[in-house]
Amino acid sequence: MVTLKRDIDTKYGYVNCEICGDIFYAPLKTKYCSKHAKQIKLQQSKDWKSENRKIKNPDQNISINHSYTEAVHQKMKCECCGGEFEITVLPRTYVYPKYCEEHRNEFKRKLYISKNS
Ligand SMILES: [Zn+2]
Ligand SMILES: [Zn+2]
Repeated sequence: MVTLKRDIDTKYGYVNCEICGDIFYAPLKTKYCSKHAKQIKLQQSKDWKSENRKIKNPDQNISINHSYTEAVHQKMKCECCGGEFEITVLPRTYVYPKYCEEHRNEFKRKLYISKNS
């Protein structure tokens, strides 16, 4: 049986990526093309499992990578005015505003940009 297993491991052939269906030449046990193998690996790492990582409003929010297990205060820089503001980074929550309180309002952002450009 051991011989058989080694045989499968080292046997090459044309395989299909299970995600994109690309056909490529690789060991027969390969399930994904190199691009998707990388993606799967990333998704399997525990940080990526959290649904919280999905950014619902990418205009206003950014995703912060962290592995805090308790709430941590973090200083952020507003992407509109450059001013500092503080957020509370929570465990297993990865999406946070990227603007200071003032500029979370789209109208105020536009006003600021028109005044300062
Ligand atoms: Zn693929
Ligand atoms: Zn601001």
